[in-house]
Amino acid sequence: INTLPQEFIGAQPILKILTRAGFEAYFVGGSVRDMLLSQVIHDVDIASSAFPEEVKFLFEKTVDTGIQHGTVMVLDHGEGYEITTFRTESTYTDFRRPDSVTFVRSLSEDLKRRDFTINALAMTLDGEIVDLFGGLDDIKNGIIRAVGDAETRFTEDALRMMRALRFSAQLGFIIEADTQKGLIELVPNLEKIAVERIRVEFEKMLMGASAANSLKIAVQDKVMLYLPGHIGQWELSLIISDLEIYQANHIVVVWCHLLTRSPLKIQEMTHFMRQWKLSRDIMKTVIAVVPIVRQIENVTILDLYTVYSYADVLLEILKITDVADKTIQHVRSILKMLPITQSSELAINGSDLIKLGIVQPGPRMGHALKAMEKAVVLSEVSNTPEALTSFAKEQFSHDKN
Ligand code: ATP
Ligand code: MG
Repeated sequence: INTLPQEFIGAQPILKILTRAGFEAYFVGGSVRDMLLSQVIHDVDIASSAFPEEVKFLFEKTVDTGIQHGTVMVLDHGEGYEITTFRTESTYTDFRRPDSVTFVRSLSEDLKRRDFTINALAMTLDGEIVDLFGGLDDIKNGIIRAVGDAETRFTEDALRMMRALRFSAQLGFIIEADTQKGLIELVPNLEKIAVERIRVEFEKMLMGASAANSLKIAVQDKVMLYLPGHIGQWELSLIISDLEIYQANHIVVVWCHLLTRSPLKIQEMTHFMRQWKLSRDIMKTVIAVVPIVRQIENVTILDLYTVYSYADVLLEILKITDVADKTIQHVRSILKMLPITQSSELAINGSDLIKLGIVQPGPRMGHALKAMEKAVVLSEVSNTPEALTSFAKEQFSHDKN
């Protein structure tokens, strides 16, 4: 096949160099799967029989991005390609990370350690597929199936259970019966996995096109009991029916949605989000948006500046939680009424403030711009150069910068 997607074409010279030097080299993992599914290809991963030192010897520019697990990045024409040495992972005493990785020379050993058959495909540089575990059939039939014995694989690494749900949600695939049995059996092991790793998979799951179905399975199979925080059955059923119709388009939307549907008060929300180790940015957005969404039908004077600041997320959540169309129209008309829709529409900007000698470049500039933005949004100052200049002078020129 010479019609490989562009992402692979760029990496072909790298595979050529490796194979000419007598090593094996393949495209592996998600990129091969996504190509076969005609989905967007993210990063193209390369696996090779060459050991890291051998890779570094063959290529002029390399970076040790993860050399302890065998990954070296090769830089070529401004692009970076990760080459990982074929490896096995032995004895997982903490259910999380392999105790050690062993580099091996055989592709089959490397494919065997991978989580699901659809992720255990390899492809040569001319597009020939190596399929040792029936991954091609599973892709065709839409099946998530553990490579080897599911219980063993989930015992080695409990995160794989979250990944099964995540891929199922993203691809609309069903989880094969033995794989699901293994999941039901080993779900308590999820407690041993670092929150951050679970969170990544959970978020990807909830943003998937088939998120509702995966979340339903997660509830039925008691996965939710072993995740951080607690979301009640009733709220979960609401969330599931929301997701049957709408798909979250951003991580922050995922969390705003979950918490809108939860009965938690503000302090409790903060506690819940800390348990999930969410970023400050996401926590801040949730705290701003959720109270507005929850009360939107009763509140007559909305916090205009919050509506303005979080307009995109707010409209997304209103759509997802299916509040009356009237309410969405109301928020839209509020947004339309505002003098500006974004800070770039301010009649004067940062460099004007500097030219006018009102604010010096530096940390105070951000505060000054925010204050002008807020004053304009709340119609305390009109959005004209004159009005803003005098506002800024009044507010800031006496301050020491
Ligand atoms: P995405 O497009 O979301 O990145 P991906 O399949 O590339 O999907 P990654 O998490 O980037 O997923 O992992 C790359 C590959 O490494 C997988 O396709 C799989 O073969 C293997 N892999 C990743 N995590 C695990 C794991 N926990 N256990 C076994 N194999 C894994
Ligand atoms: Mg990937």
